[in-house]
Amino acid sequence: MQTTETKRVLVTGGAGFLGSFLCERLLADGHEVLCADNLYTGRRNNIRHLLDDHNFEFLRHDVTFPLYVEVDWIFNLACPASPIHYARSPVQTVKTSVHGAINMLGLAKRTGARIFQASTSEVYGDPQVHPQAEDYWGHVNPIGPRACYDEGKRCAETLFFDYHRQYGMEIRVARIFNTYGPRMHPKDGRVVSTFILQALKGEPITVFGDGSQTRSFCYVDDLIDGIFAMMHADDRATGPINLGNPGEFSIRELAETVIDMTGSRSTIIEGPLPVDDPLQRQPNIDKARAILGWEPKARLREGLIQTIAYYERVLSGGIGPDAR
Ligand code: NAD
Ligand code: UDP
Ligand code: UDP
Repeated sequence: MQTTETKRVLVTGGAGFLGSFLCERLLADGHEVLCADNLYTGRRNNIRHLLDDHNFEFLRHDVTFPLYVEVDWIFNLACPASPIHYARSPVQTVKTSVHGAINMLGLAKRTGARIFQASTSEVYGDPQVHPQAEDYWGHVNPIGPRACYDEGKRCAETLFFDYHRQYGMEIRVARIFNTYGPRMHPKDGRVVSTFILQALKGEPITVFGDGSQTRSFCYVDDLIDGIFAMMHADDRATGPINLGNPGEFSIRELAETVIDMTGSRSTIIEGPLPVDDPLQRQPNIDKARAILGWEPKARLREGLIQTIAYYERVLSGGIGPDAR
């Protein structure tokens, strides 16, 4: 369906979980998509079905290096996004957030492109305000093991707003809260994919701490709708705007829900709570509702049905192994 004039769109991190859905949606809208990804955590499998589309191009590229292409829109999603992935190379994570933002902003400045930044609820750190609204400045440990991600993303926000103010560029900054769905990397340790895989394999479900910490889980389709709404909206959507599902669950509740929905015999075991693991997290999405007319539709159980079905196919070999 062609809903807008055709644009040349760059998606960094396009072979990742969210990026691959974004590429799909852009192609469905009739746009030309250049997916730039260094495959650090992304996978060719996520975009294999797009490679035959003449409007789609894949470029293996690391955003910490300059990129000279001609584009109308940029979605900057490149960044390791799970604690175990960013802990594997914290320095590369900071470089990706900061140098990546500088390069993509430089590209946007030269081409006049509108540029979207995938920021994160992690900019709020371990929040002392609940739920979190955009005017909360956060509570982040600047030298802890999560800092490479949290502070990297905070610095990227600073860069986006400085380029916006200094050069009058069109930016869109979304603070994305925990999002889940098919194509999350099976080994990235994020809680939804991990629990589903453990339940399907009949392995113990590893709840960290006592499981009373909370997260609010947004299904990927809803999140992509929110990103699109921001990119299409006028400059009232400059941001930052929280995108997430306010439905808040404890991690133990999530474990019990996954066990129930998969009919698994898995037991729940407790492991150590990671350093600086936020105790609670829930988005205030009043701004998104008011400016974008957006709010998520899928309830947790609805989104989990699709996600469980995906990992069942992964385990049955229906979705092949993928070399990185
Ligand atoms: P993901 O790991 O599946 O995707 C990230 C992609 O970026 C991968 O394909 C990876 O290979 C690529 N990448 C990493 N470093 C790169 C570099 N230097 N150059 C080029 N590509 C690089 O994770 P995701 O969940 O799809 O996250 C996408 C974006 O959304 C990230 O910026 C993340 O911080 C943000 N985000 C995601 C969530 C979530 O819950 N999924 C929440 C908040 C923010
Ligand atoms: N850049 C890029 N593609 C472009 C234009 C710029 O990758 O099309 C990078 C380049 O590495 C540059 C950075 O973006 O260093 C920031 O660009 P800017 O114009 O803000 O700064 P300057 O070029 O003056 O350092
Ligand atoms: N978590 C857990 N068991 C796991 C993986 C994660 O209990 O196997 C917890 C983790 O400690 C955190 C929550 O689930 O409290 C969400 O973790 P995730 O890594 O998915 O996202 P983030 O911490 O970045 O919000």
